[in-house]
Amino acid sequence: MPLIDSYNRTIDYLRVSVTDRCNFRCVYCMPEEGAPVSPKACILSFEEIERLVRIAVELGMTKIRLTGGEPLVRKDIDQLVARIGAIPGLRDLSMTTNGSVLARHAAHFAQSGLNRINISLDTLRPDRFARIARRGNLESVLEGIAASQEAGLTPLKINCVVMRDWNDDEVVDFARLTLSEPFDVRFIELMPINWSQGDDGGVGMETFFALAAPLPEYRRDTNVMLYARPEIGALEQTLQLNRNALIGQLDATQMRRAFVSTQEMQNRIEAALGALQPAEVQVNGPARSYRLTGARGTLGFISQITNDLCLNCNRLRLTADGQLRPCLMADGEVDLRTPLRDGATDAEIAELFRRTVLHKPREHRLEDGMAPVHRNMSQLGG
Ligand code: SAM
Repeated sequence: MPLIDSYNRTIDYLRVSVTDRCNFRCVYCMPEEGAPVSPKACILSFEEIERLVRIAVELGMTKIRLTGGEPLVRKDIDQLVARIGAIPGLRDLSMTTNGSVLARHAAHFAQSGLNRINISLDTLRPDRFARIARRGNLESVLEGIAASQEAGLTPLKINCVVMRDWNDDEVVDFARLTLSEPFDVRFIELMPINWSQGDDGGVGMETFFALAAPLPEYRRDTNVMLYARPEIGALEQTLQLNRNALIGQLDATQMRRAFVSTQEMQNRIEAALGALQPAEVQVNGPARSYRLTGARGTLGFISQITNDLCLNCNRLRLTADGQLRPCLMADGEVDLRTPLRDGATDAEIAELFRRTVLHKPREHRLEDGMAPVHRNMSQLGG
């Protein structure tokens, strides 16, 4: 019996963050000095992650994606992949990585049951890479891409967050890649996950959202979020105290300026490379997929701001510190770590999964000024 939420969506996809640490400092995600990380004692062990994933799979979840932070900075990540890959009933195990050290893991991952990989890459130019990611280098990511292809971790998805005056002029170059390579290149609209306090004090979500289409009628109903944490622990207090210091380098004004809509990206690509044809396979997660004439790969657009992706949302997120999160864009979480460590049975934990699913909001409420503020993407498991 699959997990069904209150809006009749089947929830069959769990994103598992295995660490909140990252070896990159992407400008839209983290400050140069890094975001605060959870105390080690709060991070779930491999045994705990494996147990939660097994329970999720028994509840009907068929797709698991390992993410972070950067999953490859977690020590012995190969062992975790092998443990999860061996869970009976799991149909699709994938990973999102910045690719920086992927070349040395790809073959082992493929042997251990990893089916697919998403690689985040925002620029094809080495100098810009240094400006946007602020760590690592383009060459090692390209090596990771090549190693993944060789290992058969395909179709390989390349995720690119598009930002004005940072990399928006590379949209056509990324699209052109699909002519010769069988990649699924996916362009992501910059999301207002968290930002530094800027000239408007971090307020201004409505303005950010006003870049998008006006609020449709069906979005005006009320969402209910669940805050089922038994206690506000030391970690959560730390996160709240540091709330204003958590985030990326960009402040709210810079975030708004950097935003580029899917429509604008598509216009640029079509002007340079011809019409985008809807791809024959539309099952591409939240992305809408297209193909350029004669291309080997596809182009996807993740338009969290200008299109409504929520109504098809099929996922939950498990943070590295053991919180189950029904919606990326809302701060409500359910604590699994405490019951897990207090001796809860599998049935009790399964019940927490079920309750979380029932409280999954219908959609985000960014347009009402309700944005996630307690964690940035690296702490959420993007
Ligand atoms: N370290 C891994 C990686 O780089 O793919 C996994 C975690 S990272 C947080 C997951 C994805 O979130 C990356 O593709 C990153 O570009 C994206 N991301 C982070 N902050 C974002 C934001 N504000 N808007 C859109 N995408 C964002």
